[in-house]
Amino acid sequence: MTVPTITLNDGATIPQLGFGVFQVDPEATERIVTDALEVGYRHIDAAAIYGNEIGVGRAIAASGIPRDELFITTKLWNSDQGTQSAIDAMDLSLEKLGLDFVDLYLIHWPRADLDRYLDSWQTLAQLKADGKTRSIGVSNFHRAHLDKIIAGTGIVPAVDQLELHPAFAQRELRAFGAEVGMHIQAWGPLGQGKYDLFSEPALQAAAEAHGVTPAQVTIRWHLQNGIILFPKSNSRNRMAENFDVFGFELTAEQMASIDALDRGQRVGSNPDEATF
Ligand code: NAD
Repeated sequence: MTVPTITLNDGATIPQLGFGVFQVDPEATERIVTDALEVGYRHIDAAAIYGNEIGVGRAIAASGIPRDELFITTKLWNSDQGTQSAIDAMDLSLEKLGLDFVDLYLIHWPRADLDRYLDSWQTLAQLKADGKTRSIGVSNFHRAHLDKIIAGTGIVPAVDQLELHPAFAQRELRAFGAEVGMHIQAWGPLGQGKYDLFSEPALQAAAEAHGVTPAQVTIRWHLQNGIILFPKSNSRNRMAENFDVFGFELTAEQMASIDALDRGQRVGSNPDEATF
């Protein structure tokens, strides 16, 4: 199965479908990521705060997969924002992952109240120049945060990783991304199981029409919208199900019926209010 790749604004390429490790138990991470790599995933979305970079690194090392066939993302946690603290945090992440570089390093949340995200963005640019990460981006950044870092450095993030699922479709930030050449990644692409997404008639009808599951329809909706995503599951069967999404295509009508589910319904924190 060939996962399409997307070319980022710095020329790097990223597999559009990956595997995320939020809330994956650190003790089980090596096994779960090994399963994901065996299923065929080559793009892993990690973060320092998930506490499981060591398990991700062990699975990568044990897999024997050539480094240039993998795309590994990790993220700078809020309390490490700044200059030296961000450099140290990146070094620690690389050490835990057992890697010389990651493919993508993100500022996890803007935390505008700390007023360190512009400094952090400048530091990420330096880390990229130093070869510790191939690409740099942000997560949970709203328009005001993006405007500030772009005006302050002239560097447009390769990606903004946002909460994004059918009930919370992020149309404005997607439009802004398209305007400035910044790709959008979806976190919680299946709504994190926090609302009954899979019972929506639009998803059920499309699933029935294609002989697939509502989860597979949701993943296709993201892919056909040009979104990069990495749904998470501890179950190997679901990992395989979520990866088996390249044998059918949603029609324009089916896409429109899923687009119509957008109702501004978050399942996670509002980045403008987050204080963790
Ligand atoms: P998700 O939308 O991927 O949902 C995961 C839930 O869906 C799990 O409970 C899982 O059991 C269930 N699920 C998965 N596949 C299924 C299937 N085929 N059928 C039925 N249920 C299924 O939520 P997520 O894990 O929060 O998001 C994906 C990734 O995004 C994370 O693992 C992480 O890498 C990233 N993320 C980033 C941020 C951020 O702030 N940047 C926040 C949350 C998550």
